Amino acid sequence: MLTRALGLVSADMAIDLGTANTLVYVPGRGIVLEEPSVVAIAQRGDERRVIAVGHEAKTMLGRTPHKIETVQPLRDGVIADFAAAEEMIKFFIRRVHKRRIFNNPRIMICVPASATPVERRAVHEAGLAAGARRVYLIEEPVAAAIGANLPISETRGSMLLDIGGGTTDIAVLSMGSVMYARSIRTAGNAMDEAIVNYVRFKHHLLIGTSSAEVIKREAGSAVPKSNGERISIHLKGRDLQRGFPTEITLEPEDIAEALTLPIQQIVSGIRQALADVPPEIVADIYETGIYLTGGGALLERIDVRLLNETGVKFRIADDPLRCVVRGTGKVLEQVDAMADLLIKP
Ligand code: ADP
Ligand code: MG
Repeated sequence: MLTRALGLVSADMAIDLGTANTLVYVPGRGIVLEEPSVVAIAQRGDERRVIAVGHEAKTMLGRTPHKIETVQPLRDGVIADFAAAEEMIKFFIRRVHKRRIFNNPRIMICVPASATPVERRAVHEAGLAAGARRVYLIEEPVAAAIGANLPISETRGSMLLDIGGGTTDIAVLSMGSVMYARSIRTAGNAMDEAIVNYVRFKHHLLIGTSSAEVIKREAGSAVPKSNGERISIHLKGRDLQRGFPTEITLEPEDIAEALTLPIQQIVSGIRQALADVPPEIVADIYETGIYLTGGGALLERIDVRLLNETGVKFRIADDPLRCVVRGTGKVLEQVDAMADLLIKP
């Protein structure tokens, strides 16, 4: 009786377990957590203890002493370190529900459409190991499309491009299901590395990927504006020839040029996808445009650069970092009515 009464409290959660960021949505409450997918672990003898998760752990990346290790449990959209992923989910469940009394929650987690059955099972198991009573899985592009308010049950085909941290996922949906999915390993992280390399070869300056990410977000632009607002960035790092800290200035053109290779790789993925789907669907996509989600959609003027390169129109979804979790949350709220959209166990 007691457990039944407790079951009335909604403890259910929708989780977007991303390579870069994890987001959690609770029915009736909305998005309650957004944290980097990072875990800091202290090793003492054989014992591994989690000392920080999320934002706190991210600030430790690249600066921890030997006994502390920072782990990103997801790589290329799938679980790479099972124990760390389980700890991270556990930590987020506790954080979301604080000290509230609740039954073990039902959890809905999205997985890349290109994940293998083994990779999907790992996500399912990690959810259970973290304390979920039941774990539902949904394909990420389906969740993203719902979160971006696309009419997904129509017969018209629509293409979604999600530029995340580790991967760019390209999917084509028609009638509520994924008819084409491909994942390429070039996304936000590769852009950060491209900036590191550019600064290294052009200016002989060594910077870290975290600084490169800040530059990309604050001053980056996929196509520099020919007139109007310009942000130059002053950058400190270690001079590779003299070994001293030094300072340089980057212009918006420099960053657009630095990002050429990763953007080219994303463009070839799009070309390949357009070549692989039936011509009727290609016609639909040309007419409506390609929807952009994920953090990479926030790179200034990425839509313009992709249009220039492919001739197809791009539409940046509202609030692109949160489309996936929002869509996952919507499906969780109507899990019985929307059961068709779930991945069958
Ligand atoms: P994932 O789903 O893989 O966890 P996200 O969709 O959360 O990834 O996107 C994270 C990526 O988006 C990171 O590489 C981050 O640097 C990038 N990003 C976030 N904001 C911006 C921005 N304003 N401009 C360019 N890239 C951004
Ligand atoms: Mg994502």
